[in-house]
Amino acid sequence: MEQERDTRTDLKGMTLPELETFFAPWGKERYRARQLYRWVYRKFVHDFGEMTDLSKEFRNLLSASCRISAPPAERVEVSADGTEKCLFRLQDGEAVESVLIPDGDRRTACISSQVGCALGCGFCATGGMGFRRDMTSAEIVHQACFLAKRLSDRGERLSNVVFMGMGEPLRNVREVSRAIEILLSQDGFGLSGKRVTVSTAGLVPEMLSVAEKYPVSFAVSLNAPRDGQRSLLMPVNRKNPLREVVAAMRRIPLQSGRKVTAEYVLLSGVNDSPEDAAALSRLLRGARVKVNLIPFNAHEGSPYSDPAPETVNRFRDVLLAAGIQTITRERRGGDIRAACGQLCSGIGGKRG
Ligand code: SAH
Ligand code: SF4
Repeated sequence: MEQERDTRTDLKGMTLPELETFFAPWGKERYRARQLYRWVYRKFVHDFGEMTDLSKEFRNLLSASCRISAPPAERVEVSADGTEKCLFRLQDGEAVESVLIPDGDRRTACISSQVGCALGCGFCATGGMGFRRDMTSAEIVHQACFLAKRLSDRGERLSNVVFMGMGEPLRNVREVSRAIEILLSQDGFGLSGKRVTVSTAGLVPEMLSVAEKYPVSFAVSLNAPRDGQRSLLMPVNRKNPLREVVAAMRRIPLQSGRKVTAEYVLLSGVNDSPEDAAALSRLLRGARVKVNLIPFNAHEGSPYSDPAPETVNRFRDVLLAAGIQTITRERRGGDIRAACGQLCSGIGGKRG
């Protein structure tokens, strides 16, 4: 259902230079943009009236012609393990999900970048929805604002953001880049690139161009060590074959001690044999990578199942023996369908 449109200019999602340019015709000093930025991304305030270091006159001007969008979370579910999943209703009635994952000192927001996804990986619930539309930078960054505000209300701080929710971030590079700028900006979230991770199905040119512009971390979903197998699971492999994806991973500029993550969803009897692990270790030989093994998370309508823990351990051990840093991602939020690959718009009957 379409909500009533607010035609005022949305300031959320603008990069700092964009906001400075936007304010320029009003003859306002440049620092105004920074002040506003801090209210929105540091204090998560979206009512101009509360921005007390801006003049009354400026606040009135802003209220009349601008807004700061903050779509409500229509639903928040809390898992037994502390993971929280939020469903956001967007202005056009579409919905996306975001997840907050507490882990030791870390508070990670797993955010979406598209409503649905066009890449159609056979094991992924979002892929099963098909592509509906790109999200705007305002919608993308709002997920982080909402979750950070939730944390700050209980005296905690958002520490990491991962683009591992719904969608392929590198199919929406323009809006995702704007969101990245806000996350990294000193006056915005002020996160270091180490703490912002773009997860991608491996779109080669986009990976390299984003890596050149922003010092963010990358996680690349490999999911199979051979082209034939990978193309079956991830149709995007036909355009971005493994050899090229891994070559791009090797070319991503890295600060010392940092690595690119290779994600690998383990599907029982499909890509989880010791031979697959050996082939993966050959593929990654000498690269500055760490492998993140993700046992498949079941969702409705998927033909796959998750491997036994012994199978996961055996796969991991082959990689470790080859000297590749490997961790198995713990399943988080499974009871509320918030685990990797389980996100869809949460609306029954909307798949396909
Ligand atoms: N489109 C991006 C980011 C979103 S998917 C990408 O593909 O990387 C985030 C991660 O979840 C990917 O590594 C993907 O392979 C994994 N994933 C998708 N469906 C899954 C499922 N059902 N179980 C476990 N992991 C899944
Ligand atoms: Fe899209 Fe990533 Fe899901 Fe593949 S795994 S369908 S790229 S969201």
